[in-house]
Amino acid sequence: MIGVTVLGATGSIGSSTLDVLARHKDKYHVVALTAHRNVKNMLKLCADFKPEYAVMALSDEAEKLAVGLKECGGDTKVLAGVEGLEYVSSLDQTDCVVAGIVGAAGLLPALAAARSGKRILLANKEALVMSGHLFMDEVKKYNAELLPIDSEHNAIFQCLPSDFSDGLTANGVRRILLTASGGPFRKTSLEALKNVTPEQACTHPNWEMGRKISVDSATMMNKGLEVIEACWLFDAAPEQIQVVVHPQSVIHSMVEYLDGSVLAQLGSPDMRTPIAHALSWPERIDAGVQKLNLFDIATLEFEKPDFSRFPCLQLAFDAVKFGGTASTILNAANEVAVQAFLDKQLSFVGIAKVNQIVLDELSYHDALTLDVILSDDKMARELADDVIKRVSH
Ligand code: NDP
Repeated sequence: MIGVTVLGATGSIGSSTLDVLARHKDKYHVVALTAHRNVKNMLKLCADFKPEYAVMALSDEAEKLAVGLKECGGDTKVLAGVEGLEYVSSLDQTDCVVAGIVGAAGLLPALAAARSGKRILLANKEALVMSGHLFMDEVKKYNAELLPIDSEHNAIFQCLPSDFSDGLTANGVRRILLTASGGPFRKTSLEALKNVTPEQACTHPNWEMGRKISVDSATMMNKGLEVIEACWLFDAAPEQIQVVVHPQSVIHSMVEYLDGSVLAQLGSPDMRTPIAHALSWPERIDAGVQKLNLFDIATLEFEKPDFSRFPCLQLAFDAVKFGGTASTILNAANEVAVQAFLDKQLSFVGIAKVNQIVLDELSYHDALTLDVILSDDKMARELADDVIKRVSH
């Protein structure tokens, strides 16, 4: 039996993961589930999956969960805070950690999993974006296994040779074609983008996801974060990555080889496919996903990305080129700006403005230690808060 810890169990990635795990109770058992504040959902998940541990990031919520579980007679142990998240990511009985927390909050537990040599199923791209160098070093040092479940990176992983540790070029790869749906505003004019609401931004044409990643998809910051993620995961230079807008989200990404071959991974837009792939890799298991019906789809379209309407995408390419903590700073500014947009304190186009100003105004450092990363993350958040006050008045 493979022991699995699901970080962010109450979220969109968490529930897709639990759906796959529930189909294979003979192969996987849930060691730990974690959440931030959603006690009601955690109570239900603990009743369904009977994990050894349940962690709430907020200690008041952990107390509520403990009381609730006691009333139901469950024997799941309840832990709280970042220490609890790190603990369940490093347990001996955990073989595999699903990193499904949203944002920078997922970094420390994901690092704990790396330092304990686990198989990490990485959805939490922000953790890698903010700490790429350090994270990849720790994965290597502690012999952890990092498997992407972001659908694009999982697709690229599937199209690459099984061992690409000696680099893309040595394996005959010319470039990566990273597909993007274009989000809900693919055809919206710059003028109209000024007035879009959080509700409109969170309505994605092809995927059902948490609110933060939905807004990132709408600004195309998500694709930008994925460019940075791909650079770290596949040791790619930004020039080796071409973003391709593909509105149907059927091709999840492609790898182009020197001989002209282009390998693509296709499938229904359902996160259970990459999750099942990475859980069982190198084997395959049923994910409960609808079969792809090419006759229904009939047409696949491709477009160039429009950097003028989606400036966040350019900012991400810039951050990779600047190096060091530039990506940490961009990620932190973006998290603050997206929250302000969701709270109706900032306009949609204001998100890119805040990101640009913070990236321009702060200096970057070598991102080799956690202290430097966390310090630049904090500075960027403080500056983003100030900038939001400036641009929204
Ligand atoms: P959701 O918002 O749906 O879920 C987030 C999860 O993280 C919840 O379990 C939430 O708990 C928990 N959480 C939030 N804040 C904290 C915190 N401070 N400390 C500890 N836990 C916290 O997000 P998604 O599932 O959509 O996304 C998760 C990650 O996966 C993101 O990084 C996203 O970019 C990535 N991803 C998501 C995809 C998708 O299809 N959804 C696709 C590819 C990548 P609670 O419910 O209690 O608030």
